[in-house]
Amino acid sequence: MAVHNIDVEQIDMSLNLSNCIGEVSEVGGQERWCDLYGHGIRVERRPSRRATQVVAAATNGLTWLGTISSLAHMERHRITPGTAVDLGSFDPAETSGFDGGKQQAKARLRTLNNRLEELQEVLYAQGKHKVLIVLQATDTGGKDGTIRHVFEGVNPQGVKVASFKKPTPEELAHDYLWRIHAHTPGRGEIVIFNRSHYEDVLVVRVHSLVDETSWSRRYDHINEFERILADEGTTILKFFLHISKEEQAERLRARLMTPDKQWKFAAGDLAERELWDEYQAAFADMLSRTSTAWAPWYVVPADRKWYRNLVVSEAIIDALEALTMAYPPAEEGLDEITII
Ligand code: AMP
Ligand code: MG
Repeated sequence: MAVHNIDVEQIDMSLNLSNCIGEVSEVGGQERWCDLYGHGIRVERRPSRRATQVVAAATNGLTWLGTISSLAHMERHRITPGTAVDLGSFDPAETSGFDGGKQQAKARLRTLNNRLEELQEVLYAQGKHKVLIVLQATDTGGKDGTIRHVFEGVNPQGVKVASFKKPTPEELAHDYLWRIHAHTPGRGEIVIFNRSHYEDVLVVRVHSLVDETSWSRRYDHINEFERILADEGTTILKFFLHISKEEQAERLRARLMTPDKQWKFAAGDLAERELWDEYQAAFADMLSRTSTAWAPWYVVPADRKWYRNLVVSEAIIDALEALTMAYPPAEEGLDEITII
C-alpha cells in the first residue's frame, strides 16, 4: 500500500483508533501497514510495552498518533449507531481476533492488566475524567468473571463496582434511573455496572413488569441520560457478553455440580432459561436502539472466557489511552526542598 502524506493535525486525537482501522497486514519484520480512512499508516510494534504505536507518515516525518488494539478486527465487535442487530450473525465462540490460544491469551492478559493498572493510576491522580463501564449478559454470561480478570491487579482505590439487583420498594417508588444515577462515576473514578438500567428494558420487558408503552420509550430516555453523563465528562463503554445457549447449559451444570459454585445457582435461572428467545430479542433491540457515538455497545464473544477478557480489556485500555491523560503538574519549587 502506498503511504500518503497526511496532515496529522487534522486527525482527531481522541479517536479510538482500534475502531476505525482496517485489517492490519504484515509487510515485513516489525513493520505493519494498515488503512485509516484511506490513508496509509505505519504501525510499529514496541514489544517492551503493551502499546502498539501508530505513527503516520506525514510530510514532517513520523508523528505518533495513538495506539491501536493488538486484537484484529476489534471494530467488528462494536455496534455502529443505528444498526439493526441480528445476534445470530455474532458467533459467541469466536476467537479469531487473537493470534494464539488460551495460554498465550493468559500471558497477554497479564500485560494488559499491568497497562490498565498504570492508566487507572493516572486517571485517579489527574482527577479529571470519569469512566463508566456497563456489563450486561444472560445468567452465567460471565459478568463477575470479567470484572475479576480484567481488573486484576488494578488498585481498588478509585474503582467501584455497582451491582443492580431486583429493585427495593423504595427504588420502585421512584423512576427507574433514580437508583442508577447515584452510582455514576465522579472525577478520577472508574465505575463498573454489574447489570444496570438496561435491566429496565430486559427483565422488565420479558416479564411485562411494566406495560409496553412504558418500556418502549425507555430506549430514548436511556440515550439521553447517557448523553448527559457524556456531556459532563464521562467516558462510557458498554459490553454485552454474548454466550450460546449450549454454553449456558454447561455453566449451569457446573454450578449445580460443583460445591464451590452452588451458591451461584438460583432455581429461578432455569425459568429464565426457558425465556431464552425472548431475552435474545430484548438484547437485540437494546443493542440496536442504544448504541450511540457517546456510549457504544460492544458485543463480546463470551463462550471462551479468555477471549472475552481480552476483548473487554483491550476496549477499555484503548478508550483510556484515547483520553491522553497526564499526571498533574508538581507544585512549584520542589527542587529546592531537602528532606532532613
Ligand atoms: P444476580 O445478578 O444473579 O445477582 O441477579 C440479580 C437479579 O436482579 C437478576 O435476576 C435481575 O434480572 C434482577 N434485576 C436487576 N435489575 C432489575 C430490575 N430493574 N427489575 C427487575 N429485576 C431486576
Ligand atoms: Mg444470578
